[in-house]
Amino acid sequence: MATTKQIFEYDGDIISADLSNIRICPGPCNNTMEEPEPSVNTSNNYFKPYSGGRYARFCYPINNTQTLVLKNLRICASCHSRYLEFSEENCTEELMSDAKIIMKKLEKNQV
Ligand SMILES: [Zn+2]
Repeated sequence: MATTKQIFEYDGDIISADLSNIRICPGPCNNTMEEPEPSVNTSNNYFKPYSGGRYARFCYPINNTQTLVLKNLRICASCHSRYLEFSEENCTEELMSDAKIIMKKLEKNQV
C-alpha cells in the first residue's frame, strides 16, 4: 500500500505518477513556481495554463528496464519541446537523465 507521501506508483517496471494536482512544472527545468489557476475553455475541455499545455501522458525511460510514466501533467513549453525533441531523435540517455531529475523534483515538491 502506498503511503500518503508517495507520489509514485510501482507496477513492475512501470513507475507512474498522476500529476493532476501538481501545480508546478514536473519537467527537468529549474522552475518550481506554482502556476495560477488555469483557464478552462469549456468548448473543447482543454486546459491551457499560461506557461504550457496539459497532456495525458509522457513516458521517460529510467534505465534499460524501467519507464517513468507521468500522467495528467501540465508542463512548461521548454520542457515540452525538450521532451518531444529527445523522443523524436531517440535520445535515450538524455531522457534517462531527465527522468532522474524529474523524480527528484517531484519527491521534493509533492503536495
Ligand atoms: Zn519545465
